[in-house]
Amino acid sequence: MSRRSLLVASAALAASQAQAQPQGERPPAEVDIVIIGAGAAGLAAARKATAAGRSVVVLEAKDRVGGRCIADTVNFGLPMDLGAHWIHAPAENPVVPLARAAGFALYDDPDRPRLMIKGRGPRESERENFASALRRSQRAILDAGEAGREVALSEVVPHDLGDWRQTVEFLKGAWDAGKEMAQISCVDFYNAVETRDMFCRQSYGAILAKLAEGVPVRLSTAATRIDWSGRGVSVETPAGTLKARTCIVTVSTAVLAANAIHFAPALPKRQQDAINALSCGAYEHLIVHLPGNPMEASPDEPFVIKADGPAVAKPLARIGGSDWWYLDIGGRFARDLAAAGPAAMKAFASEFVGNELGPHARRVLGEIHVTSWTTDPFVRGAWSVAGPGATPQRLRLAEPIGQRILLAGEATDEGLWGTVGGAWASGERAVDQALRWLNPPPAAPRRRHR
Ligand SMILES: Cc1cc2nc3c(=O)[nH]c(=O)nc-3n(C[C@H](O)[C@H](O)[C@H](O)COP(=O)(O)OP(=O)(O)OC[C@H]3O[C@@H](n4cnc5c(N)ncnc54)[C@H](O)[C@@H]3O)c2cc1C
Repeated sequence: MSRRSLLVASAALAASQAQAQPQGERPPAEVDIVIIGAGAAGLAAARKATAAGRSVVVLEAKDRVGGRCIADTVNFGLPMDLGAHWIHAPAENPVVPLARAAGFALYDDPDRPRLMIKGRGPRESERENFASALRRSQRAILDAGEAGREVALSEVVPHDLGDWRQTVEFLKGAWDAGKEMAQISCVDFYNAVETRDMFCRQSYGAILAKLAEGVPVRLSTAATRIDWSGRGVSVETPAGTLKARTCIVTVSTAVLAANAIHFAPALPKRQQDAINALSCGAYEHLIVHLPGNPMEASPDEPFVIKADGPAVAKPLARIGGSDWWYLDIGGRFARDLAAAGPAAMKAFASEFVGNELGPHARRVLGEIHVTSWTTDPFVRGAWSVAGPGATPQRLRLAEPIGQRILLAGEATDEGLWGTVGGAWASGERAVDQALRWLNPPPAAPRRRHR
């Protein structure tokens, strides 16, 4: 996704670079901080806590690190991001300096979208009408957000968008946020830091895999129960119980809402309400091979397809200069299609190429791979989005619980929610709080009474 643009799998995964603890080896019996999840938030938290000299274990349900930011290094001839791909808000994104220091090649997203209408280019009047519809909608959303109006996007976009309404609905809703416009708060949208995105030549997933090097991750170890009834916490996993003084939970709000981890006692109502209010939308990459550049597209050229309903995708052509394209889908349509399974997703991709990109593209269409974040039991969606009235829930979600539990992850960041950078920043913030618990300031000397 590239929600910050104004104008608009079957796969083998990047080898985990984490210092995965061998399956037979048990983690230490008690640590200072146990972190649940080795995505961006969990990795950031672990690195910062380790640097502060604290004992840390990261429990990761999957057999690899990165969470929603991973790359397939096997199936595409280049590392292919299966989750996050756009490096949002590079100036504010804490991953960017780390990536640069590690030698990754970052470059600007060209972000000059090509508009297509049923396989053809637009007439000048169509191009102008589209640009005007999008600009006016964007302006109305941002004005409402700036004024602090906790209303849905759908309430403020102009009524006179004519036959561009479905396209705007897709771009601002399903594609930007993974939800329909009626489910997105103008304030949350306004808060999202918006600058020009970047890409990484070696993939975003490769950056996280690199930053995971040396982090003590225990892979294939799902937390099933977190008992915080006594001192510290006890985290149950199929491989045994781990005790810690504090716990940072970084799983998606969708995983929390599904009660996939049982908290004993239950999380406070304040956090439960926040979890429910910050539900995840849906967003999937359909990755198609179009050899020979049938559309004469430039590397990383984005396309906008005029929509006549929700069953539409947004192409990103020639990823990293290759012959692979994303056809990205979002919102309810993506959720339903993912639930129907990979065969249905591939059928849609194939039909879409023929109908929307035209006969040249249809003739060369080769392999199709699809992602399945929505049906992944350890993710269950794309990223959190606040509905009308729910924006303040982001800070509530991050409030410390019982001096030993912290919820972190993309959902807890006000400005970079839904991004890798926001998740990373949230992990670092959570560790700052955990360290305050672990190193309380010395008590002021008490005066002696004579
Ligand atoms: C298709 C897609 C495209 C995206 N595009 C972009 C983009 O272009 N740019 C961008 O910045 N962001 C993008 N995002 C969002 C971004 O990927 C996320 O915001 C970010 O990666 C979330 O990081 P996190 O650490 O908060 O959570 P996660 O990455 O979800 O990490 C949580 C970890 O917890 C693990 N886990 C779950 N349950 C358990 C359990 N019971 N026990 C132990 N571990 C568990 C999970 O396996 C996961 O590894 C995209 C997301 C998707 C799905």
